Amino acid sequence: MSVAVRILDDGAWLSVNDERRVSVSELWRLTAPDFCPCEQPDFLTQGFLSARAAGQTIAIETYGECICCGTDGIVGHVPVGKVIDGVFHGYDRERAVLTPIDRSAE
Ligand SMILES: [Zn+2]
Repeated sequence: MSVAVRILDDGAWLSVNDERRVSVSELWRLTAPDFCPCEQPDFLTQGFLSARAAGQTIAIETYGECICCGTDGIVGHVPVGKVIDGVFHGYDRERAVLTPIDRSAE
């Protein structure tokens, strides 16, 4: 089943199948040792650059800032949910620890 993932409103929203599903200004806990020195950065999302579906997983290339140490920039493609039978199921991003997809593995 094909999934349409798009970024809307100059990077403010992720749209999946024409529904707005994830917005910026969320706080994500990440495992991202390449991004900043924090063991588990608290990452404030500020902008979405692109989105893609890798199998069932939807990942957003995300710009933002670690509020622990102040590092800002692009953290990579962060998986935010899955599409199962055409329906988007977002991860519990307030509790989950998200791991950006390694850019070097692309
Ligand atoms: Zn940090």
